[in-house]
Amino acid sequence: MNQAHAKQRLWLKNPLAAFTANDLDAGGGVVISGGTIAEVVGTGKSPAVPCEEVFDAGRHVITPGLVNTHHHFYQTLTRAWAPVANAELFPWLKNLYPVWARLTPRDLELATTAALAELLLSGCTTAADHHYLFPGGLEEAIDIQVQVVRALGMRATLTRGSMSLGEDDGGLPPQSTVQDPEVILADSDRLVAAYHERGEDAVIQIALAPCSPFSVTRDLMAESAALAEKLDVRLHTHLAETLDEEDFCRGRFGLRTVDYLESVGWLTDRTWVGHGIHFDDAEITRLGAAGTGVAHCPTSNMRLASGTARILELEAAGVPVGLGVDGSASNDASNMIQEARQALYLQRLRYGAGVSVERALGWATRGSARVLGRDSLGEIAPGRQADLALFMLDELRFSGSHDPVAALLLCGADRADRVMVGGQWRVVDGQIPGLDLGTLIAEHSRAARRLVNGG
Ligand SMILES: [Zn+2]
Repeated sequence: MNQAHAKQRLWLKNPLAAFTANDLDAGGGVVISGGTIAEVVGTGKSPAVPCEEVFDAGRHVITPGLVNTHHHFYQTLTRAWAPVANAELFPWLKNLYPVWARLTPRDLELATTAALAELLLSGCTTAADHHYLFPGGLEEAIDIQVQVVRALGMRATLTRGSMSLGEDDGGLPPQSTVQDPEVILADSDRLVAAYHERGEDAVIQIALAPCSPFSVTRDLMAESAALAEKLDVRLHTHLAETLDEEDFCRGRFGLRTVDYLESVGWLTDRTWVGHGIHFDDAEITRLGAAGTGVAHCPTSNMRLASGTARILELEAAGVPVGLGVDGSASNDASNMIQEARQALYLQRLRYGAGVSVERALGWATRGSARVLGRDSLGEIAPGRQADLALFMLDELRFSGSHDPVAALLLCGADRADRVMVGGQWRVVDGQIPGLDLGTLIAEHSRAARRLVNGG
């Protein structure tokens, strides 16, 4: 039996080890019932109520399902593309914009499936995507993504991204890729009404996400903040990713990035920003006081040489911090457990070897859930959603390791053996039941070649 049915209790018994993202001891395992965690069983203990089903987890390390807070799924079609393989953000973007402008509905469906499947297989159960490309014919981009998320049985915060400031008006993207503010706001309104769920077990949430200071007008930022407040949804954008961006903000707005954020009504706990690297001490204090979250994207930041986010100082100031793999044109993988390893090592380089494995796993789970405003996710505790990742340490890379939780990051785990979302197994024996990966790879690769070749 693979499924934990509504009234049945499933005991994931005596795991090899468990990381709960809190102080609870789950050494005896976890009991699942009706899509949530019914009980956390201490070491050497048995469940308080007998369970109809038992899964022997003796060879598994259990963690909360990993949560990804920043991505651009469509970019899986432009991974490792030679013209931008060795470029920084602005030239990287300028080369890629014309390619991305050719994106079709089928391309996006394949790219979203590829990104989510890759995330799921790495132990990720909830993912945020920032989609801001709506060329002619792709008006229903977010609708397409909703269908893919539902088909894979994951959770997602899909953000209605936008670009409204083209080259003709001093922005970075080509004019052909920007939209009118009225169209953007009307579509945002439509998507929230159609898809946004509010309960603790929400599968789909919608957020509003103007792309970045250099691709969106000031007015659209302010109008998006007002609409998000009216609809009670979250706000997302890129901020303080590079010094080029900071120069742009000073030049165009006469403001540093956080001053700009505040000037358009975004310095609130409704907002999470992608990257958040180039903040000074006073800005970190202000972000913390406001409760604005940061999606730390270590691989992308290293790949584009953007800088190193000051994560420990952000956390000390009260900023919610989570992890993001970022788009696949700047990572170029969508692997959440590997991203936790990258975060651990990048932050150790800044702050020393005392940055613990558990702290990095905390960013990837509870921290990320908080960044997305999803407190019912990201930890193993009674009443939380039954979103779990189970890893095995049976590959050569783990041989000779001692602490199973430390081994996940230090030996470089890269795939989960089992993943559960809302009490349902979505990965079994390292496979996604019902998804033919071979066919997906063939079709996705074909679409990627056509997209870059302009066919
Ligand atoms: Zn990004």
